[in-house]
Amino acid sequence: MKYISTRGAAPALGFEDVLLTGLARDGGLYLPEQWPQLTRDEIAAFAGQPYEDVAVRIMKPYVGGEIPDADLATIVADAYATFNHRLVTPLVQVGPSDWILELFHGPTLAFKDVAMQVLSRLMDRALASRKRTATIVGATSGDTGGAAIEAFRGREAIDIFMLFPEGRVSDVQRRQMTTPSEANVHAIAVQGTFDDCQNIVKALFNDLPFRDRLGLAGVNSINWARLMAQIVYYFTSAVALGAPSRTVSFAVPTGNFGDVLAGYAAKRMGLPIDRLVIATNVNDILTRMLETGRYESREVAATFSPSMDIQISSNFERLLFELTGRNAERINGLMRDLAERGSFALTQGEHGQLKEGFDAERTDEAATLATIRTLEVATGYLADPHTAVAVSASGRVPRRLDVPMITLSTAHPAKFPDAIRRAVGRAPAEPASVARQRTLPERVTVLPGDAAAVARYVSTNARAGRV
Ligand SMILES: *Cc1c(COP(=O)(O)O)cnc(C)c1O
Repeated sequence: MKYISTRGAAPALGFEDVLLTGLARDGGLYLPEQWPQLTRDEIAAFAGQPYEDVAVRIMKPYVGGEIPDADLATIVADAYATFNHRLVTPLVQVGPSDWILELFHGPTLAFKDVAMQVLSRLMDRALASRKRTATIVGATSGDTGGAAIEAFRGREAIDIFMLFPEGRVSDVQRRQMTTPSEANVHAIAVQGTFDDCQNIVKALFNDLPFRDRLGLAGVNSINWARLMAQIVYYFTSAVALGAPSRTVSFAVPTGNFGDVLAGYAAKRMGLPIDRLVIATNVNDILTRMLETGRYESREVAATFSPSMDIQISSNFERLLFELTGRNAERINGLMRDLAERGSFALTQGEHGQLKEGFDAERTDEAATLATIRTLEVATGYLADPHTAVAVSASGRVPRRLDVPMITLSTAHPAKFPDAIRRAVGRAPAEPASVARQRTLPERVTVLPGDAAAVARYVSTNARAGRV
C-alpha cells in the first residue's frame, strides 16, 4: 500500500514513512492510494469478534505488509489492554433507535486514547527497526497532551515534550501531563496562551537544522495512523447493530475532522453507512460549509466543549481531495484561496456531493447544557458536553427510523465537571484514575513564552539532541 499527498507534489510513501512523517513535504496530507475493500461476508463475520481482532483485520491492508501480522496483533492487544472496558468501545442504548458509542474508556478518559495508544507503539517499533530516535514536541489546550503523554511514557525510542499554557488547563488535564514519572516525559508550562504554545511549536518545526537534529515528530490528527485506528469502531458498532444487513448512521462531535473522516473511510471500505452527521458547537465553520458551500474561518469562541473550539479543520482537506476526484491541482488552488483570503468556495457539483453523504448541525452553549439535562432526565445517561453537541445534532437531522443512529461519545463527563454541574446541578462521580492522580507528585518545568528558551530546554533534555 502506497500513500499519496493531497497536494500532489510529495513522493508517494509506504506506511511506516507516512507514520513517521506526519505532514507531507508539499504541505499536504497523506491518503491511501486506494481504499481497501471488505466484502459483505467479511463484514458480517466481525459479529461477535473481539475488538482487537477486528482492529487487526481493518489495519492490515493499510499497513501493507510492512509489519508482520503477529507484531500488529501484539501492538493492538497491548494498546487496548490499557482500557478499563473489555469491549474497548461499548455501545449504550438511549432511545428506540438511538445509541451512544463510548470512546472514553482509555487511560485519559477521552477518545484520543483509542488512536494514540496504537500510534505510540507503531512509532516506537518503526524507530527501533530503523535504529533511530525521535522527539515529539506538541502544544495542547487540554485533551491531546494528556493522551499523548500517557501513550508515549516509557517508550524506548521517543522523548515527548508537551507545552501547555500555565494556569489555563483544568486540574485533571494538568495532572495527566505532570504525574507520569518516566524520564522521557517533559511537561512544560508556558507563561502565555495556547496560541503562544502553538507558535513556539511551529517555530521549532520551521527551524530545519533543529528539526533534523532532534528528529522532531508530530502526533496531531493529520497523522494517518491515528485515523486508521479510528476506522475500527465504526465497523464494530455498526456490526453490533446488524450491519451489513442493516444500514446505520453516525453523529460525530467534530473539531479537526479526524474522527468523522475515519467514518467516511469506513464507508469507502464497504460499511453501509447512511448519514454521517458533523456536529459542531458555535465554532461552526463546517456547519456553514455544508449550508453555503463556502469555507470561511472566523474568530474562535471558548465553549463548554473546548476540544471542538477550532477555526480550521485540517482533515477536511482529505475529504476535499475525494470530493474533487483526487484533483491535487484543485486542492492547491483552494488552499491558496484560504491562505490569501481566509476562505474558499466549492463548485455546485462539489457542494452537492458533500451534502449527499453528510449532514451538519451547530449546537450553541445553552442547547448543549439543555441536552445534557434532558438526556439525563429521560434515560439516566450523563453525557459530557462534546457528546451532548452530537446528541443534540442527531435529534435535528432527517431520520429514517429503521436506521439506527450511533452518536460518538468522545469524553467522560468527569473531565468537564463545571459544565456538568451547570447542566444537572451536581458534579459527576470521580473515576478512580482521576482520584489516584490527585495523590501523585507533579513534575513540570515552567518556561517563558519564548521559542528560544523552549528550543534550549528541548535540546538539553532530548536524548536525540545529545552528541
Ligand atoms: C479531539 C476531540 C474531538 C474532536 O475530534 P476531531 O477528530 O478533531 O474532529 C471531540 N471531542 C473530544 C473530547 C476530543 O478530545
